[in-house]
Amino acid sequence: MPTRATLRGGHRTPLDRDCDVLICGASFAGLAVARELAGSGARVLVVDRYEIGDRQTSACGIPTCWLEALSLEDSLQQTFGELVIHTPHATVRYALPWTFATFDYRTLCGVLADQAQPFEFQIAKVDGRSADRVHTDRGDLRAPLIVDALGWRRVLGGGANVQPPEALLSRGLEVHPFGWGDEMEIWIDRSYVPAGYGWSFPADGELRIGVGSFDPRFHVKDPTVRLACDLEANSVRYQGNWIPHALRDATEDGIFFAGDSAGHCLPLTAEGIRTALYFGIACGRELRAAVEGRRSREQALERYHAFSAGHALHFRWLLRVQRLIPRVPPRVLAQALRAIDHKRFIDWAFGHYLEIAHPSFVTDPDTAADHRGRRALDTRTVAA
Ligand SMILES: Cc1cc2nc3c(=O)[nH]c(=O)nc-3n(C[C@H](O)[C@H](O)[C@H](O)COP(=O)(O)OP(=O)(O)OC[C@H]3O[C@@H](n4cnc5c(N)ncnc54)[C@H](O)[C@@H]3O)c2cc1C
Repeated sequence: MPTRATLRGGHRTPLDRDCDVLICGASFAGLAVARELAGSGARVLVVDRYEIGDRQTSACGIPTCWLEALSLEDSLQQTFGELVIHTPHATVRYALPWTFATFDYRTLCGVLADQAQPFEFQIAKVDGRSADRVHTDRGDLRAPLIVDALGWRRVLGGGANVQPPEALLSRGLEVHPFGWGDEMEIWIDRSYVPAGYGWSFPADGELRIGVGSFDPRFHVKDPTVRLACDLEANSVRYQGNWIPHALRDATEDGIFFAGDSAGHCLPLTAEGIRTALYFGIACGRELRAAVEGRRSREQALERYHAFSAGHALHFRWLLRVQRLIPRVPPRVLAQALRAIDHKRFIDWAFGHYLEIAHPSFVTDPDTAADHRGRRALDTRTVAA
């Protein structure tokens, strides 16, 4: 694990550094970028306002094949072969062509950080940027290659940043009571949230119960408490955040953006972990090519930008469905969910869904830009 050079609060020492690659944000996207730079010889500096793995940022649900592809199995808590969807008029149970898993955030971040060695880690709050100089609460950091993996705020973007509720963001809140379960459950029920869904993800002695609203103006605390109460669980250990649901430019003003800062979280499902890892890897590969002199910085920016933008169609389609579902009358929705419960359709739909950010990308020897369109994959081979 990285050396901690500082203490918290007033004990923070001044920080003034030049490095080759500066990665701001040490969660899924930032650590995935750093992992791709391991052994490149570049001086990599990673900064975050918290210790690595300190603040869980999600329910930590992910396709299991992604944990396997990145050798993150140590963090695995539970796996689920079915997705259970409750509506007021029906409960459906889809047998998935691949499994979902819940994982332990601290362990996952720790393993990713180990895989990314050597790099320097510093705790600092990033406040903004002027050109290649990033301002933190401990001083300024300079690098020719800078990554913003700071989440939805997109702190290092140029110009004024759009903030909620005007921004294209959803909001999510969950509680983490102790408890056991063996089903991954979703509620599409307007009595909890008019546009969005509730969830319960068991994670080895803990339940992650929450509600997400696609409308950022709708407050989710009361429905989260109500859902927990309906499941006879305590509303304790809250965790919530804004969740982007629109793809943004993955480069801007010479900066690389990965994960939520680039809107890489998938609309409709709000699944943003595997995409943060996926786009983080793509970004890291371009940075590695730049530090090894195989590409110029401008080429790396251009290629990563195009790679991310190449996924826009998938994001647009998911956003359309996200907007459509709240308009469908609940009885019709229940009928539709029942009607699609056929193995061939579920395999096809979830196969395509996984394909948007497929785990085979982790070991794909080719760089990012020619990846899409070249590979025709049978997703079941990965799930097997
Ligand atoms: C309640 C909830 C549940 C969710 N559940 C799931 C789920 O089960 N599965 C899934 O795939 N997705 C889920 N998501 C979405 C997922 O959490 C995000 O898409 C994902 O965390 C994005 O990863 P990231 O690395 O881009 O950003 P983040 O995980 O948000 O990491 C950003 C990092 O930057 C640091 N940081 C932020 N600002 C600063 C600053 N100014 N200075 C220094 N450091 C800073 C933070 O400390 C953090 O470490 C959920 C979201 C919410 C809100």
